[in-house]
Order: sequence, then C-alpha cells, then structure tokens
Amino acid sequence: MTWTDARIAQLTRLWAEGVSASGIAEAFGDVSRSAVLGKLHRLRLSGAREAPAAPRRYDGECPAVAGPLRAPPSPPALATTPPEPPRSPWREAAFAPLPGTIARPWLSREAGECAFPVGGDGEALLSCCAVVKPRSAYCPAHHAIAFPPQTPAARAADQRRLEEAADRWAA
Ligand SMILES: [Zn+2]
Repeated sequence: MTWTDARIAQLTRLWAEGVSASGIAEAFGDVSRSAVLGKLHRLRLSGAREAPAAPRRYDGECPAVAGPLRAPPSPPALATTPPEPPRSPWREAAFAPLPGTIARPWLSREAGECAFPVGGDGEALLSCCAVVKPRSAYCPAHHAIAFPPQTPAARAADQRRLEEAADRWAA
C-alpha cells in the first residue's frame, strides 16, 4: 500500500471531518490504524486536530461542563473572624438514639438491625438496631447520615477530576 496523492487527499479530508484514525483505517480497508496515525504525523496533521477535539468527546455526557463550571470559583468573602469548621454529621448523630428505637449492645445486634453507634464505647457500644434500609447496614435515617447524597458542588468536583484525567490521556 502506498500513499498516493488521492489517498493522502482522502486521508486529509476524513481527518478534517473528524473521523478517528481507526475509522479512517476502516474506510481504506487495507491500512492499519497505526499506519494512518503515522501518516497523519508525517503530514503534521495529528497534533493540529487532537488538541481542540479531545474535550468534545464529553459533550454528550455532560453538556454543562464546557462553560461555567470551568470558571474559577469566586474567592470567599473575607470574614472578620475565621468561620468554625462544620461539625461532622456523624459526630452529631452518634450517641443520639432515634426516637422510637431501642438501642442495644453492638454484639447483640441481629441481621437486619441498624449498626449505627448510638452510645457506649468498645464492647459496650450500643447500636441503633432499628430495621435497616434494604441493602444497607443502617436504618434509613442513619444511612442518610453515613452516606449523604452528593451535592451539585461535589458532583462538579468529580466531573473536573474526570476531565483533568481525560486531558492527561489526550496529551
Ligand atoms: Zn439506625
């Protein structure tokens, strides 16, 4: 297989249209993906398209990310006194049995009873022992404390980490 002018023209056109190297190899039928990439490299086309094209792959899954989420967060307002760190929800909820439940020693807890600590220490630890939420070790109230639902900010942070990983891949 030789790269005739016609084939180079077709390669250049397909690449410009956004066809992947493996897609181009498939279109030719007798060229490997790495041969396509090698030719693109020699034509100095490979770098030209990949840089702007890489983030596009994520358009379908997270359309909101391209714009506002990339903007740096606004700096926190300066407070005259440093704010108190938020108290851990776990700490607040521990040692506070839910109304209507009878806490029992951890060791006497049976299958299907909430394992959340509500008092005691060590072997004397008391568990909530309310009926658990399906597929959880905790009752619905304690499950919500142990596994708080993701906030939009947390989801955005996850998304940023994904994108950074993708950028490293593309580089
Ligand atoms: Zn519980």
